[in-house]
Parts: sequence; C-alpha cells; structure tokens
Amino acid sequence: MRWSPEGWLAGVTRLASPNFGERPAGEVSLVVIHNISLPPDEFAGDWVEKFFLNQLDPQAHPYFATIAGLQVSAHFYVRRDGRIIQFVAGDRRAWHAGRSCWRGRDNCNDYSLGIELEGSDTQAFTAAQYDALWQLLDAAVARYPITAIAGHSDVAPGRKTDPGPCFDWAAVRARYPALDLPAEVAT
Ligand SMILES: [Zn+2]
Repeated sequence: MRWSPEGWLAGVTRLASPNFGERPAGEVSLVVIHNISLPPDEFAGDWVEKFFLNQLDPQAHPYFATIAGLQVSAHFYVRRDGRIIQFVAGDRRAWHAGRSCWRGRDNCNDYSLGIELEGSDTQAFTAAQYDALWQLLDAAVARYPITAIAGHSDVAPGRKTDPGPCFDWAAVRARYPALDLPAEVAT
C-alpha cells in the first residue's frame, strides 16, 4: 500500500475526522490495537464512522446517548468484511488511547497509530480483518520506525479491555517477531 506525503493510505476509504492534532515529538513508533462496535456487539450500520466524525445521533440508541459527546478518532477502522477506513493521517495524532502508558512512556496518542477492529471482547475477528490488519501493519512498518505493537488494554490496564481475548496475538508474533509485543505473548 502506498502513502501520501502526509500519511494517507492510497486505496482505502478516507473519512477525515476533525479529532486530531499534531504529534509533539513528530515520531511514530507504536501501533495500538483496539476493538469497537456500535451498538456494542452489533456489526450493522455505520455508527462507528459517525462516532469518529462527531456525527453520532444520541437519540438513535440508548448507548449512544452516553458517548455521543466524546471526541475521539483512530487512524484506521477495519470492518468485519475487511474494508479499511482511514480517519486521520498517519503523521497526525489521533485520539484513541486516552490516558495511557507503554514501557514507561505516557500519552501513547503522541507517538502511536491507532487501529480499530470492528468487534468485541467476546467474538472472534474475521479472516478478512486479519488480512487487512497485516496490510496495515506492513504499511506502518514500511513508513514509520515502528518498534512495538500493543493492545489498548496493555497501554491502559484496568481501564480498557480491548482488543480482548479473541485477538490473535500469536499471529502477530509470528508475522512481526522483531517487534516488542505485550509480555503475555512474548516467546
Ligand atoms: Zn480501545
């Protein structure tokens, strides 16, 4: 996959989110993996896209009323069918990790790419999603000095649980043996 100069991937759907900023140190060395579904555990509709664009209708579902005011984003969102949507350029800081820390370094949004997989903590991700994830990770490693891949639960322990127990960290380890991964999957 090819990148534009500012870090948009060619060939993926682009929905530019207003929820981004500059990277204080100007570098990207971490990928944070998440899961999300709106409403939780439902995979129809385009509510996540609306959420990341600040267009989620709080009336459309009781759960939406609890989150509609949040301003969040991720660089990439991978639907169940493997479709990739990009919301924020890779060179910019997206708002996905919140209060977070990886290997003693705070504010992971400053120096990470955020990838959201459409899913939940209780349902397996699809083969098409892993295919898309490998494409994204290969592209990330090709453009940025990535040294680590972590889950949201690894950078915000006790506060976040995603990508959850269904995520195949062993497959990540097999594909990226040189990268720093969460301790429970280190060989
Ligand atoms: Zn998350």
